[in-house]
Amino acid sequence: MNSNILTTDTIVAVATAPGTGAIAVIRLSGPEAITITNSVFKGKNLEVQASHTLHFGTIRDGDKIIDEVLVSLFVAPHSYTKENVVEISCHGSDFIVQQIMQLLLKKGARLANAGEFTKRAFLNGQFDLAQAEAVADLIASDSALSHEVAMKQMRGGFSQEIKRLRGELVHFASMIELELDFGEEDVEFADREQLRSLINNIQTIIRELLKSFELGNVIKNGVPTVIVGKPNAGKSTLLNKLLNEEKAIVSDVPGTTRDFIEDEINIGGITFRFIDTAGLRETTDKVEAIGVERTHQKLSQSALIIYLFDIAETTPEEVQDEIAKLNPKNLPLLPVANKIDQATPEKLASFATIDGLVQIAAAEGANLESLKQALTDKVNLGKLNTQQQTIVTNLRHVDSLQKTYEALDDVLNGLSLGISNDLVAADIRRALYSLGQITGEITTDDLLDNIFTKFCIGK
Ligand code: GDP
Repeated sequence: MNSNILTTDTIVAVATAPGTGAIAVIRLSGPEAITITNSVFKGKNLEVQASHTLHFGTIRDGDKIIDEVLVSLFVAPHSYTKENVVEISCHGSDFIVQQIMQLLLKKGARLANAGEFTKRAFLNGQFDLAQAEAVADLIASDSALSHEVAMKQMRGGFSQEIKRLRGELVHFASMIELELDFGEEDVEFADREQLRSLINNIQTIIRELLKSFELGNVIKNGVPTVIVGKPNAGKSTLLNKLLNEEKAIVSDVPGTTRDFIEDEINIGGITFRFIDTAGLRETTDKVEAIGVERTHQKLSQSALIIYLFDIAETTPEEVQDEIAKLNPKNLPLLPVANKIDQATPEKLASFATIDGLVQIAAAEGANLESLKQALTDKVNLGKLNTQQQTIVTNLRHVDSLQKTYEALDDVLNGLSLGISNDLVAADIRRALYSLGQITGEITTDDLLDNIFTKFCIGK
């Protein structure tokens, strides 16, 4: 494995979010983490304390007291990075944090790069690459499902599956390499039939994993959802109603500072991300019809369509027509009749022919619960078993899995064409290479930079 970290460096970063909280945590990692902290800390001598202990004292610049702090010690290798790690909990003022940071930098620490703590943890063998990536997903998780999937990946579920597949291939690769060593002698250590069936099995599993990405992507990034319908159908009223409810839920959770995310709502653990809502919310009384082209553009970005219509102004036939026109790609589409407060019971009954129709009154918020239920049903996560099923959520993993699959195709083709062993061996190695990149058995500096620079500083 290659490393581009100078492990002699001791790095420092603020681990807590920017802005003023009650406390802030400054984290150091590296051989000098304890020594550097000790040089500005008045209290016990930190250099002789046991790992996993907590110490109260002051941080001082010369005689000047900057803050009263709590210092947590993690002595190598018993820490997140497997290096010496110190966490200084100080008061949350930006001023104090900056003063302490500057002091630590002056004493020889250097500012950590983005993701460098987690990168060190990976390079020092704390976990594999897919698990390191799950740390970032876990920090970013904002729904029950994204949390569950990230947690499972961090704890190694996905990695084990990949490593198992790789292990089986490695066995055959080494057999074939052995045959190559024997050169001219006509020996066959690797049973070709077994190899073929192994590759078929691996390809089946890879296909399932690739398929799970559809779901994984939805879980991680939310379901891109669009509300379409004629002007005055009530689209902006509905959207505002849903978002305002979400806003109320978010701000109702005591003690949280989580930002309300514009245009996202969370229903039953699933995030729905509304597309192109700016236009909808600009004004409530514009009579401009949405251009055909704009509608198509919106539809092409979405995975779920809410088709909203004014029930008093529309016939069931018109609705059927519109739905057929709107949805040539056959995306999940939810027909929603609005303004039921203005429709007669006969009118309401006449729409019974429309499959899966939800009837609401957006303005007064009537029947929104049925709408929410129908939305989650449409996404069809109900039958998903996130406990048992391995779900791919990462585009990088998808890319590696696809490359593995193609290399395995080449192996199979090679076997049926009876090509020479060294070429078959080369294709197997290519499959192993791509598979190994997922968990980081194979890494390059570029690959690592690419992954860890997406982390924030301090992670
Ligand atoms: P949009 O053009 O599709 O975004 O429609 P709007 O949300 O701007 O709504 C158009 C009009 O319908 C507004 O005057 C709303 O107050 C009204 N409206 C929306 N929902 C309902 C409803 O459930 N019942 C009634 N009676 N009026 C509604």
